[in-house]
Amino acid sequence: MKTIPSLISIWLMLAIGLFGSNHTAFSRQVHSSWRAGVAKVDITPQESIWMAGYASRDHPSEGVRHAIWAKALVLEDAVGNLAVLVTTDLVGIRQELSLRIRDRLKHQFGLSRDQVILNSSHTHTGPETDYARYQFQLDEVQLGKIKKYAENLENKIVELVGNAMESLKPVYLYSENGVTRFQVNRRNNKEATLVHHNELNGPNDYAVPVIKVADQKGEMMALVFGYACHPTVLADYQISGDYAGFAQLELEKLYPGTTALFFQGAGADQNPLPRRSVPLAIQYGKALAASVERVLTEDMKPLTGNLSTAYAEIDLTFANPTPNREELLEITGSSSGYPEYLKQNANVLMSKLDKGESLITSYPYPVQAWKLGDQAIFAFGGELLIGYSIALKNIFGPDIFVMGYSNDVMAYIPTSTVLEEGGYEGTRSPIFTTPWASNIEERIIAEAVKLAEKVGIRSQEAPVTDQ
Ligand SMILES: [Zn+2]
Repeated sequence: MKTIPSLISIWLMLAIGLFGSNHTAFSRQVHSSWRAGVAKVDITPQESIWMAGYASRDHPSEGVRHAIWAKALVLEDAVGNLAVLVTTDLVGIRQELSLRIRDRLKHQFGLSRDQVILNSSHTHTGPETDYARYQFQLDEVQLGKIKKYAENLENKIVELVGNAMESLKPVYLYSENGVTRFQVNRRNNKEATLVHHNELNGPNDYAVPVIKVADQKGEMMALVFGYACHPTVLADYQISGDYAGFAQLELEKLYPGTTALFFQGAGADQNPLPRRSVPLAIQYGKALAASVERVLTEDMKPLTGNLSTAYAEIDLTFANPTPNREELLEITGSSSGYPEYLKQNANVLMSKLDKGESLITSYPYPVQAWKLGDQAIFAFGGELLIGYSIALKNIFGPDIFVMGYSNDVMAYIPTSTVLEEGGYEGTRSPIFTTPWASNIEERIIAEAVKLAEKVGIRSQEAPVTDQ
């Protein structure tokens, strides 16, 4: 039987609709307790420079594929708690440069360690910033260029954060995890024979974390997104941000006026496969951008509440004692079997001993947690393996965001499983002759749990099971 809606019910539907939308607009205004400021700066090298990421490189950059960027997003809650995320199209910012930048941010803007995350995309087609590492490998001209670039970068990042802080205005924040799947676990799948495989081995985390920052009119002004995968599609001599650079370009084209900031997740054992062509880097960039676009198109979780931040450095120890002069001399010898870049590392360590310095016996490893309204964010130093993201999601649930490559990129950070298995990501600490101590995962996760408690991130009640 057909029913005709009465005039009264039509009127009621209209009234609910109108009231509903007004009510939404009203409650949005009420919840706009955040302020945000965003800024970006071009960090493309102005001259040919040594490139970071692959030890096999034998000459400096030949050109620029696209500009690379440092970007800053400052976030402030209703009571003035403030934090800044800086993302960079770089392979990583090592301890010395990171300390210089963060010390200046403290001095100039009063930002303490817990308030700053310096994340790098880990692009393998960016400039080198670490002078000390190459001191016995490159000539004075090349070393001078690295030094100059790093000094400029330091100044640019400090100024960038200042600019972002000056542009603070009321915003709405939203977050959600998306998904895309072009990364492959590179330890457990063979790149060379991938084409013959119809099953891939894990572990993996396909999450695409997204934070949307919209102004009071609802216009998006900034967008943070991440992925856990090495930007190693490209290995040529053109400066670029790799797939992550293309993804940012694509999103800033899709959403004019929006600054898109990419952060690297726990992508240490994840590679974009297949790889090694520019069209593939573009494809992966667009795939990542499309997953962000999907998240933005659907309902996102509005972030309410306050901002809490915590930071700690734990002294990670090594499995073996650090080498003495004789052992280092042996490594640098022609018959040692060590690759050239490790021989150079041995020279760097030896020069420390020659100067009367002793080698480190532990490493101050940065661990950080932010609670941005209801959004939990963890940031870790080093090349973080995907197992950490999975372990933390088992504790805190699938909605958390996990960053690696933050504040200091000193070495691979294996899980206890990978450390036991050995292989490329499992065998070396910053002192390359020894792996990390076997309790590395336990200690890092324990510190993350401690910081989570401090900022009020709760563990999930019970693991989610399939119905
Ligand atoms: Zn790497």
